[in-house]
Amino acid sequence: MTRLLVATRNRKKLDELHRILVSIDLGAVELLTLADVPEYEEVPETGATFEENALLKAREGARHTGLVTVADDSGLAVDALNGMPGVLSARWSGGHGDDAANLDLLLAQISDVPAERRGAAFVCAAALVTPDGGEEVVVGRVDGTLTSEPRGDGGFGYDPIFVPTGHSRTTAEMPAEEKDQLSHRGRALRALAGPLTTALATSTGAN
Ligand code: IMP
Repeated sequence: MTRLLVATRNRKKLDELHRILVSIDLGAVELLTLADVPEYEEVPETGATFEENALLKAREGARHTGLVTVADDSGLAVDALNGMPGVLSARWSGGHGDDAANLDLLLAQISDVPAERRGAAFVCAAALVTPDGGEEVVVGRVDGTLTSEPRGDGGFGYDPIFVPTGHSRTTAEMPAEEKDQLSHRGRALRALAGPLTTALATSTGAN
């Protein structure tokens, strides 16, 4: 069976990527995680954009494993912070991946920003890299507004304060499948479905 590596160490993101990939009809494909392949050192996310970082992660995965690899880089762009935390979303409060501290800091920073200026967007770049050097990167985005208090316990990261445009619940209050339908990650991965199907059909590599 053809194999596809999903290269992320963020458990919550991995769950979403898996769920969305399973919902896309990719044919017979075995989804592998970084736990299924020999360990390799993580590349620092030094890119200035989501696209660059997603490509960095997917290239590393394909290079180390010889597998068709998908990776994403994502974050929250807040209007009142000129698009920040952006690529720094995972480490906004200093340490990497401390979701609670990141969310608290962001809420404090925008505590005086009135409702009409609390616009934000989740952005996700999804990159596909094949062992023979083929590359594709797409971007998905969902616009919304930020609440002043966290609501809901689904999702991860900034989900408890993000209400997508046209909705009243935060993405942490939505069932997982509903978030996937409208999320930046869902949109990006669905946009990658065509190139992914082609790459898996033509891949030889270590498959
Ligand atoms: P990275 O893509 O691993 O660099 O991390 C992305 C960071 O952006 C996460 O740690 C979260 O803080 C935030 N983020 C990205 N996507 C989402 C989402 O779907 N919900 C909530 N937070 C997200």
